[in-house]
Amino acid sequence: MHEVSIAQMLLETVLKNASGKIIEIELEIGELRMINADALKFAFSVLSKGTRAEKAKIIIKRKRPKFKCLNCGYVWSPILENLSEDQKTLMHFGALAYSLVLKCPKCESNDFEIIEGDEIVITKIKFIEND
Ligand SMILES: [Zn+2]
Repeated sequence: MHEVSIAQMLLETVLKNASGKIIEIELEIGELRMINADALKFAFSVLSKGTRAEKAKIIIKRKRPKFKCLNCGYVWSPILENLSEDQKTLMHFGALAYSLVLKCPKCESNDFEIIEGDEIVITKIKFIEND
């Protein structure tokens, strides 16, 4: 499950970059990642047991994706909530699947590039220094 590997990466990153006891982590996740926030929080709580990040609160901000059509230049943000379940499943395969699911709303081309929406960024880590 990919939430588990993301939680693992997140844990390693915060432990490497913050000292003391980590109490809060704020993330910005592009919706294209199709991440289940509850699954990610749960995976993190399990993996972080016994570490300095145990019980850290995870705050997830979702970022709308943005695409640019390479045919007509139109820039748009697809509403992923409106996709069918089958389409959502396909989106998990990443960039290669996007052109099967999405098309430019102006010219219907499926030749487009991702401007943003597939990133995972740690925007804030709150921690208390050990004394
Ligand atoms: Zn277009």
